[in-house]
Amino acid sequence: MKKNLLIVLSGPSGVGKGTVIKELLKKGSYALSVSCTTRKKRDDEIEGVSYFFIDKQKFTELLDEGGFLEYSEHFENYYGTPKKFVEEKLTTHDVILEIEVDGALQVKKAHPEALLIMILPPDEKALRERLLKRGTESVEKIEKRLSRTEYELSKKDLYDYRVVNDDLAETVETIEKIIEKSKSK
Ligand code: 5GP
Repeated sequence: MKKNLLIVLSGPSGVGKGTVIKELLKKGSYALSVSCTTRKKRDDEIEGVSYFFIDKQKFTELLDEGGFLEYSEHFENYYGTPKKFVEEKLTTHDVILEIEVDGALQVKKAHPEALLIMILPPDEKALRERLLKRGTESVEKIEKRLSRTEYELSKKDLYDYRVVNDDLAETVETIEKIIEKSKSK
């Protein structure tokens, strides 16, 4: 039997990654990796499902023990993929990692067989404008988010595939096809 696949999905904030992943999980028999983060839990998030919420000290301990497949700092918080968690899931399923670009590239370096897919907005300019208009945030925060978007988009050519999220159903189907193709190689 073919080995299960490590699938990394990234994309700038506002591109609809979460929805795409939800649909993929409904349709296919994928497992979703649950990351550790030092970020504060949001009201709608569930411990152990959305993330494992841990403090900086615990994060550093896990890092020192070699417990992360990759990790990165994002807007002053740390995020990491727990190695053991993913390895266990990989024995039975293809595993999806929803992580940002620096982490994704670390995964590719350690596991060249991993499949890296970046989800792109149909209109990069419109995405920038949408981010600018998100009323509640300070100018400083908006600028940070915009420059992060620029950075993420600048790395798109390092991904194995780029999928433009214009129509949700089509995006999901395209990603499924890419996964099938990669598995049959
Ligand atoms: P949020 O705080 O909005 O949940 O996530 C912020 C960013 O961190 C998103 O781009 C998300 O993909 C990324 N992220 C979530 N978990 C991980 C992880 O384990 N590793 C890395 N490198 N990025 C992550």
